[in-house]
Amino acid sequence: MAVKLNKVPVREQEPLVRAKNFDEVCLGYNKEEAMEEATRCLGCKKPKCVEGCPVSINIPGFIKEVKEGNFEEAYHVISMSSALPAVCGRVCPQESQCEGVCVLGIKGEPESIGKLERFVADWARQNGIKPKPATEKKDKKIAVIGSGPAGLTCAGDLARMGYQVKIFEALHEAGGVLVYGIPEFRLPKKEVVAAEIENVKALGVEIETNVIIGKSITIDELIEEEGYDAVFIGSGAGLPKFMGIPGEQANGVFSANEYLTRNNLMKGFREDYDTPIFRGKKVAVIGGGNVAMDAARTALRLGAQTYIVYRRSEKELPARVEEVHHAMEEGIDFHLLRNPKEILVDENGWVRGLKVIKMELGEPDESGRRRPIEVPGSEYEIEVDTVIMALGTSPNPLISSTTKGLDTNRWKCIVADESNGQTSKAGVFAGGDAVTGAATVILAMGAGKAAAKGIDEYLNK
Ligand SMILES: Cc1cc2nc3c(=O)[nH]c(=O)nc-3n(C[C@H](O)[C@H](O)[C@H](O)COP(=O)(O)OP(=O)(O)OC[C@H]3O[C@@H](n4cnc5c(N)ncnc54)[C@H](O)[C@@H]3O)c2cc1C
Ligand code: SF4
Repeated sequence: MAVKLNKVPVREQEPLVRAKNFDEVCLGYNKEEAMEEATRCLGCKKPKCVEGCPVSINIPGFIKEVKEGNFEEAYHVISMSSALPAVCGRVCPQESQCEGVCVLGIKGEPESIGKLERFVADWARQNGIKPKPATEKKDKKIAVIGSGPAGLTCAGDLARMGYQVKIFEALHEAGGVLVYGIPEFRLPKKEVVAAEIENVKALGVEIETNVIIGKSITIDELIEEEGYDAVFIGSGAGLPKFMGIPGEQANGVFSANEYLTRNNLMKGFREDYDTPIFRGKKVAVIGGGNVAMDAARTALRLGAQTYIVYRRSEKELPARVEEVHHAMEEGIDFHLLRNPKEILVDENGWVRGLKVIKMELGEPDESGRRRPIEVPGSEYEIEVDTVIMALGTSPNPLISSTTKGLDTNRWKCIVADESNGQTSKAGVFAGGDAVTGAATVILAMGAGKAAAKGIDEYLNK
């Protein structure tokens, strides 16, 4: 039988309906759709998709189980490699990883691996299936700092090996960017994120919230006074960057982190919550990554006319293709090849506009992308009352500045060996955005996995 060239389409909320609500945009596959899509997989002997997956999920293995309707088995295959499949199925940039190298993509569309992963994880949750905990316990204890994808993965893997693991989280809720950054309409918090965190806890991991390592207690104290045998730092990169242009101190200028945290974690968008959020009428979001798309689509849902201002062209937008497509469908206005020069401020100190300059693309720079160059004399103004900066983030220096012998690089990222997470300090490991700077969920999970293996080797030396 000939293989179908196209993916089974996935159901989504209509653009004009979803632009006014915070419910999930993508509705996912049902059983029949998932089984039909699974029949497209060729079950390659040397599967390229697995090579493209940073945590090496046995992709043909789980898809075969889906094809045969064995969804529980499919879940156990995935959970051997991933602690957060319902999250990854929703937010991973599959087009540049597993699906980007799937052989079906040569002649037609690649296998819809992300949507199948999501289906399996959702089915398992709805049917009460949990990952299997370790049968033998070890007497060594490990502290994990931060409960984002890096920390959760490292903790989950160590617990599976039988170690006693405790996560320390600064915020009042666990999940890192998954709870405070990525909006509800892409990643439901209660149904998906909280449920996957419960699965990590079911492996035996303890989570203590409201503990800021470096303030409440230091890493040296965890080791010397609390008796932890090893520490993993997965504290992310939560410090926002600004442009340093005139007007950035005005009322109505936000970092995307603050704006999204007020909405996602503090539920500013809900009438039944007290957290204030400034609902601008005309909002400019500066940047072109996932964070920029999330901030813009949040502002749109809060009722604003919304613009994205990005200095390169559509081809260079670093956001996931699906997010850009959804943002455009929902009516966000893209001002591409434009760069802000100044935020214009009224007599009361509030934003009244944004002065931008047109850009053109020159030769590729060190990132491999064509360098944007200003077009002289092409400045013009856009009328806005809110500006959201989504220009990237760097690690908070609190942990590195309070831990003796922990080396960082010039971007304040912790220096750690990619293969096992080992830092410059014995017994202290690190991974995720705290090491790489802002990256992706799956890379953070891959780093958490590598560090769990590294910690196990260190403790068995
Ligand atoms: C808005 C937004 C959208 C994104 N969209 C995507 C996407 O679609 N796909 C994708 O793959 N990636 C996306 N990313 C990137 C991805 O979320 C991150 O790369 C990933 O979450 C990094 O994981 P982490 O565990 O290293 O850090 P984080 O998720 O940042 O978690 C770190 C945790 O450590 C805690 N912490 C920090 N300091 C301390 C301390 N001193 N003591 C105790 N706890 C501490 C923090 O509170 C936080 O909970 C997005 C990021 C943002 C901000
Ligand atoms: S590369 Fe594509 S077709 Fe081959 S096993 Fe992976 S998902 Fe299936």
